[in-house]
Amino acid sequence: MFELATAFTSGFGGTAVLPDAQEYDSARAVWNGLIDHRPAVIARCHSPRDIADAIRLTRESGLPLAVRGGGHSVAGLGSCTGGVVIDLSGMRGVAVDPARGVATAEGGATWSDYDAATAAFSLASTGGLISTTGIGGLTLGGGIGWLQRKYGLACDNLIGADVVLADGQIVRAGPDDDPDLLWALRGGGGNFGVVARFEYALHPVAAVFAGMLLFPFDRCRDVLTAFRDWVPEVPDELSLVAAVVTAPPEPFVPPQLVGQKAVAIIGCWCGDLDKGAAALAPMRGLDPLADLFGPMPYPVLQSMLDGAAPAGVRNYFRGGFLDALDDGVIDIAVEHGALMPSPMSAIHFHNMGGAVARVGTDESAYPGRAAAYTYNLVSIWLDETRDEANLAANRRLAEALRPFTLQNRYVNFLEPAPGGQSPEARARAAYGDEIYARLAALKSVYDPANAFRTNVNILPK
Ligand SMILES: Cc1cc2nc3c(=O)[nH]c(=O)nc-3n(C[C@H](O)[C@H](O)[C@H](O)COP(=O)(O)OP(=O)(O)OC[C@H]3O[C@@H](n4cnc5c(N)ncnc54)[C@H](O)[C@@H]3O)c2cc1C
Repeated sequence: MFELATAFTSGFGGTAVLPDAQEYDSARAVWNGLIDHRPAVIARCHSPRDIADAIRLTRESGLPLAVRGGGHSVAGLGSCTGGVVIDLSGMRGVAVDPARGVATAEGGATWSDYDAATAAFSLASTGGLISTTGIGGLTLGGGIGWLQRKYGLACDNLIGADVVLADGQIVRAGPDDDPDLLWALRGGGGNFGVVARFEYALHPVAAVFAGMLLFPFDRCRDVLTAFRDWVPEVPDELSLVAAVVTAPPEPFVPPQLVGQKAVAIIGCWCGDLDKGAAALAPMRGLDPLADLFGPMPYPVLQSMLDGAAPAGVRNYFRGGFLDALDDGVIDIAVEHGALMPSPMSAIHFHNMGGAVARVGTDESAYPGRAAAYTYNLVSIWLDETRDEANLAANRRLAEALRPFTLQNRYVNFLEPAPGGQSPEARARAAYGDEIYARLAALKSVYDPANAFRTNVNILPK
């Protein structure tokens, strides 16, 4: 019989953490405190060779396999129970080549690792809105961030990758090496292999004009309507989120607003700083209770919202695409925003378009190019006795938005899989038939036995 513990202690160059290890509980913890997986082995890798060994040993064991980059998947896709987790948290190096305008980053890096390295050269690529998120899952699923309308999604910045395939081969994906694999990695998730090294295009970004406006909740409808009417005119340099939040007890929040529901307009202007102030004038002129916009280094913006998303607390996200911020959507945001049971929860409307919309389906597997907005219903709470209240409020809101929601889904904002839905139906619904068919054909080339299935899973054709 295959002896997993022996195999991983003798045939693996990385570090294997087994259930009897003192550090097992901290090693198995992921960002979402609702996820409680107990892997049989956590295989901490330090090199592509370690990754290949861990894949081979897992295949010989017949156990399930999960791959953990930054561990932020709200659905818990960075871990599994009873199987092997390939843990990339020891592979976080980032190297910058300013002459070529390219950065390479190991598969377990976070955006804070990445931004710190690239900002030293006043360069950046689109990352997420929170610095603790892994570059791995975020890029492979798409990657919505503060530079997206000017420079595209994180996956649009991906120009190459070193990938460890299911058979242990280490291959390169790139426009001249394997363009099909590169296409699949740009949005197709972790279905095709373990990315040991990502290669990104860099852009000149030093200081940005960024921040947040806060309005009282009784102005929610007016502010969202003004936002909706204004955004079609904004230049690509401006990426924006409109959000229903609860104002936090921070020094920059007026005392009368602390703990109250509020509307926030959060944004980043990545062009000439003087023009940023002018571009934001229409929203800043609406007499907000707090105006936190100003010039700041890009990495400061990247960590500005980290406090709103602490590790280890309870999370449930559910997202969708919209072709417009209709009056009906705004009504729902007002009605359900008032009822959010936790002060840590929020409704986010990400303004898309710009460079995101100019990428064709022949260039990436990301299924949301036509959306004017991506929404994310972010439920975050602390108390486990409040699980049902928070889950139910999120689901009611999602149900109300369903008639306005486009058919495809953003895989990085998918809720955990509901019972009864087949993995194929879930992935097909997220990608749409055309993209799904191409992904399935490539899955049968790169992972015909579906070794990589702890993800929004594409079935081999
Ligand atoms: C607080 C918070 C903020 C977020 N903000 C944003 C945001 O601004 N924009 C946005 O687009 N999304 C955002 N997300 C969603 C985020 O994109 C996904 O949760 C993403 O999967 C996280 O990547 P990760 O590597 O940290 O996750 P993990 O849990 O480690 O992995 C998620 C999936 O990606 C796969 N994967 C990870 N790394 C690799 C790799 N190197 N090779 C192969 N497969 C890999 C895993 O197998 C798994 O299927 C946010 C999530 C959270 C929790």
